[in-house]
Amino acid sequence: MEQTQKIKRTFRELFGASPLIFRAPGRINLIGEHTDYNQGWVLPAAIDKAIYLAIERREDDSIHLFSDDYSEHFETRAGELRRSGKLWPDYILGVVEQFLKDGHSLGGFNIAFGGDIPLGAGLSSSAALECATATALSSLFDLPYSRLDLALKAQAAENEFVGVKCGLMDQYASIFGKKGHLIKLDCASREHDYVPFAASDLRIVLFDTQVKHSLASSAYNRRREECEAGVGLVKEHHPGVSSLRDVSETMLRQYVKPHDETVYQRCSYVVGEMNRLQEACEHLEENNFRQFGQCMFETHYGLKNQYEVSCFELDLLVEMVETRPDVFGARMMGGGFGGCTINLVRAEAAESLAAEIAGIYHEATGMRLAAYFVSIEDGAGCVTASHA
Ligand code: ADP
Ligand code: MG
Repeated sequence: MEQTQKIKRTFRELFGASPLIFRAPGRINLIGEHTDYNQGWVLPAAIDKAIYLAIERREDDSIHLFSDDYSEHFETRAGELRRSGKLWPDYILGVVEQFLKDGHSLGGFNIAFGGDIPLGAGLSSSAALECATATALSSLFDLPYSRLDLALKAQAAENEFVGVKCGLMDQYASIFGKKGHLIKLDCASREHDYVPFAASDLRIVLFDTQVKHSLASSAYNRRREECEAGVGLVKEHHPGVSSLRDVSETMLRQYVKPHDETVYQRCSYVVGEMNRLQEACEHLEENNFRQFGQCMFETHYGLKNQYEVSCFELDLLVEMVETRPDVFGARMMGGGFGGCTINLVRAEAAESLAAEIAGIYHEATGMRLAAYFVSIEDGAGCVTASHA
């Protein structure tokens, strides 16, 4: 509400008119890490932190953009999209480019946007910005896109225009989020089931390490190659296998382990994680959050020891909470080498835990820890009607 009013005010001051306002949230992922590009499942949810984007058509064909958080303007035209060079306008213009490629002739428009998703912390502020843009433009110019189309266009914008090779999860969660529910997304079929997350006495708390080690992108590419290598080795004996989704631990022991221990460890983590996600969903059905949380810890140790994408700061944050009865589960979230841990914490204890962990983290690393308390909310949509 507050964010909606804020961006509306900014827009009025800049463009002197009453805009439509769209919201697209960031996301968390409870379990299912590095499974997306292996054609497995993930379990994300949209959160209460979001991008708020005000938009209105223009008479001419120029595009005027304003970032409220950076206080920066950018101008270009639909006919000749000018790249900003990996800066914030590219996340918007990448979506415009996707729509133009489909043959839609967009007119000019004004946008002002801002939000409260921490940038670069692994909550997908970039996907939220793309999804806010896709939802807004599709509505403004009456384009015939489904929600899945919008998520795919937003992903393509990040892949092609910004140049970041992300999977579909972030954009999918931002578009399809549902209050109080996790999204069990099958990355192969791109279909989902909603899983109720009825944990009223628990809070989801993110601890932001505030570090991003430079290894992140090279290691990400290497892990993808290692997974492909594992699939290749199994395929020699089972030609029908096309991804780690089709592979069992027994197959890995038989065909991969004797050839390459490292590739075996990587693949074994992924196959284990896919099974763990299914198990975690069964615990959710029974509202057994203790067991669900145990799965999160197991994921962390798989990522640390087998997949080797954790780091000192992430491990420290998980180890600090592991023996505390108020913490049901915790793990590193995202690609690794920095970003946040996600913690399931007894609601009453959450604030004091965060304060205490921040103190210990500061002592150990000299860095300030940021803690974000998040709730699970609806995905992208127009908010003007309800908050006008
Ligand atoms: P993440 O998606 O994990 O938050 P990224 O590096 O992928 O991190 O995306 C962050 C980038 O997205 C920012 O550097 C900026 O260019 C853009 N962005 C996201 N949110 C905003 C915002 N509120 N205002 C301006 N730019 C934003
Ligand atoms: Mg991003």
